[in-house]
Amino acid sequence: MLDVLIVGGGPVGLFLGCLLAARGLSFQVLERRTEAGAHSRAIGIHPPALEAFEALGIASPLLAAGVPITSGLVRGERGAVLGELDFRAASARFPFILSLPQQRTEQMLEAELGRLAPGTFQRGAEVKAVQDAGAHVQITYEQRGQTHSAQARYVVGADGCRSPMRGLAQIPYPGATYADKYLMGDFPDTTVFGAAAVIGLHAGGVLESFPLPGGLRRWVARTDSLHSAPEAADLTTLVQERSGHALPHAECSMLSAFEVRHHLAAQMVRDRLILIGDAAHEVSPIGGQGMNLGWLDAAALADVFSGGASAATLATFQRRRLRSARIATRQAEINMFFGRPAGAAAQRRRERLVRGLLSSGAEPLLAKAFTMRWL
Ligand SMILES: Cc1cc2nc3c(=O)[nH]c(=O)nc-3n(C[C@H](O)[C@H](O)[C@H](O)COP(=O)(O)OP(=O)(O)OC[C@H]3O[C@@H](n4cnc5c(N)ncnc54)[C@H](O)[C@@H]3O)c2cc1C
Repeated sequence: MLDVLIVGGGPVGLFLGCLLAARGLSFQVLERRTEAGAHSRAIGIHPPALEAFEALGIASPLLAAGVPITSGLVRGERGAVLGELDFRAASARFPFILSLPQQRTEQMLEAELGRLAPGTFQRGAEVKAVQDAGAHVQITYEQRGQTHSAQARYVVGADGCRSPMRGLAQIPYPGATYADKYLMGDFPDTTVFGAAAVIGLHAGGVLESFPLPGGLRRWVARTDSLHSAPEAADLTTLVQERSGHALPHAECSMLSAFEVRHHLAAQMVRDRLILIGDAAHEVSPIGGQGMNLGWLDAAALADVFSGGASAATLATFQRRRLRSARIATRQAEINMFFGRPAGAAAQRRRERLVRGLLSSGAEPLLAKAFTMRWL
């Protein structure tokens, strides 16, 4: 009988494993993929997550591999500088957002979990059924063509936005797809922006860029429709049109077109099953919060487990984490709103408003919001 079975070894399940290992709890992480993911989805690791990593002694390899983003430069049409968000004041210990592609982050968390609790991470293990037996939960999983079962006091579904665990428990996951579509790609960094992220609020739609390790920069452009077969030239043309910057399209190392959704599970806790990460909430990636939100769920849940989980502490966990997910959803919606196409008059109003906000006392608060200080 284990204390906890974690279903899903994405960034959130791996981090929960590290937290439980440090607290001396018994657990297994079951991951259906046989190999690590290859897509660089999330790149932003925010100060609250870095502080949680440091408390566990696992921050150093991530810090060594990533690059710090120290500010967000906000620009309007024709390169006009509307203001700057200074991330340095957001955390005394980590005065930046760390940029590191998600597949590297996952590799490092997997290595740290292997170091803290060898043998607790199993690949190629797909959970097929979960049964609440009152005082414990029994799960059935398949691995290398064999069916196995395992028992634990609690099962945590960290199994992503399509969460089979949530489906098996029939927990509703209401939400919707936004009208906003994006094109994203990584290129050699040929800009002068260095450690700054750049948020370009253009009449044609937002154009953002972020430094990446290895001398690369990620570009994200809002598009009018979802590109079904995107090519690097589609993105480089948008970048040229909106910012005047010429990107070397032949040197694109990642390209992806995506649409964005929001979903929130009706419950994060159902008896002995607990949902965290994208299994509990899907937030638009504009603003880069989803993975970090899941890590903060994991940190809060590990505290609940190490205090001997009770119905009351789990209810408090659920209330607080659903509230954080709602705030993150709202914040992502504000980010997307400011990045929508605008006519000439609306663009002028938007630039005036943003310039005013960033030169007022609101700037430190905005920097706090962008670094997830209140989630
Ligand atoms: C384009 C893009 C950019 C993004 N940028 C950012 C960013 O900058 N910052 C940020 O914080 N977030 C960002 N996000 C969001 C982030 O990628 C997700 O929030 C994050 O991956 C969620 O992690 P997770 O561990 O909850 O779920 P996942 O990463 O989906 O992992 C779930 C795991 O569960 C496994 N699994 C599923 N079913 C089973 C089963 N039955 N048995 C065993 N295993 C199972 C899956 O194989 C998977 O490995 C971005 C997302 C996108 C699409």
